[in-house]
Amino acid sequence: MLPYGRQSLDDADILAVVEVLKSDWLTTGPKIVEFEERFAACVGARCAVSFSSGTAALHGAAFASGLGPGDEAITTPMTFCATANCILYQGARPVFADVSSDTLGLDPQKVSQKLSSHTKAIIAVDYAGHPAALDELGKLGKQHGALLIEDASHALGAGYHGKRVGGIADMTVFSFHPVKHLTTGEGGMVTTNDTRLAETLRRFRNHGISSEVSTRQGSGQWFYEMVLLGFNYRLTDIACALGLSQLEKLAANLARRREIAAQYAEAFRDLPAIVAPTVREGVNPAWYLYPIRLQLEMLCCGRAEVFNALRAENMGVNVHYVPVHQHPYYRERFKSKESYPVAEDAYERLISLPMFHSMTAQDVEDVIHAVCKVMAHYQDQRAHAGKSQRSLCSSKAEN
Ligand SMILES: *Cc1c(COP(=O)(O)O)cnc(C)c1O
Repeated sequence: MLPYGRQSLDDADILAVVEVLKSDWLTTGPKIVEFEERFAACVGARCAVSFSSGTAALHGAAFASGLGPGDEAITTPMTFCATANCILYQGARPVFADVSSDTLGLDPQKVSQKLSSHTKAIIAVDYAGHPAALDELGKLGKQHGALLIEDASHALGAGYHGKRVGGIADMTVFSFHPVKHLTTGEGGMVTTNDTRLAETLRRFRNHGISSEVSTRQGSGQWFYEMVLLGFNYRLTDIACALGLSQLEKLAANLARRREIAAQYAEAFRDLPAIVAPTVREGVNPAWYLYPIRLQLEMLCCGRAEVFNALRAENMGVNVHYVPVHQHPYYRERFKSKESYPVAEDAYERLISLPMFHSMTAQDVEDVIHAVCKVMAHYQDQRAHAGKSQRSLCSSKAEN
């Protein structure tokens, strides 16, 4: 089965980790600083603060934005639940706003309708690697005294109107989970140009302590102070060594993903039942995912049948995402009657095709072949069944 995403590690990565295992520092040593500095330079940000996961990094960003009980943060339903959960960690209220139908990123117009005197943050997601409407959202945030947090877990290496994702929003969050562009096993990062936010983030990830072990040892001091309630969200030197080694390959990795995306777009151009991801003017996506949407009106089946047929072709397709407000925890806790029609409609149609940098030419060809085969099958069935008899040709058409 060809997965929708996977990591690739080479001998240099393994050697880098082994070197740290033989050194004096397994955690909070020199590799952390090196990784953070190199990462910040790579994304064009002034500061980078590493965390033990992308989720911990989101928690740090939510904390640093000042979110607390009584506050609200506006976010998207079309994301992994961690994006919204970080608001709850701070005792604040997540307010969802619908997405734009082309990119499935937060719609600034919908966000503006949800802004209130309680709004402290806007948390956007660069869905599938396509940067959110950062200019518009940043402007809205500024007008209302809310910080823009960008969950760029999908978008390491993406470009936005001549700038790099990482140095644009007030805080940008990355994840180093194995399916992402760069992995440290588990890990995350917050980048920011604001040194005060960076200091808060550093304290938050280290129990709220105001100086770090390496600097204390360097100056021979035993004294430390806990100044806020933080967590142990530190990333290890072992993980940072892996991150540094992986960072070397980011450019080639992105180039390969862009090549695959172009091949997919070309191949699916003549399949009317497939809507390929849109790329807006001035944007260079990082292609974490390749989510297609099905024009179900042209098929004689639902998304489930197409999904299962692709799985039967050994394609490890997936669906990103079940909208956050539809998860039982959110439904039961908020009992909201609000709907987000664009996100909900997209959810019924989405299928993520395999997309990762180590895919071979043959892998890409296999995906294209499988998609064309399955589409042809369901479109033909529909043609035979005729428009008025859609129900005749549904469930068990394939396999
Ligand atoms: C992967 C991901 C996260 C969580 O990152 P972890 O490193 O797994 O904690 C958060 N938000 C989005 C959009 C993600 O894709």
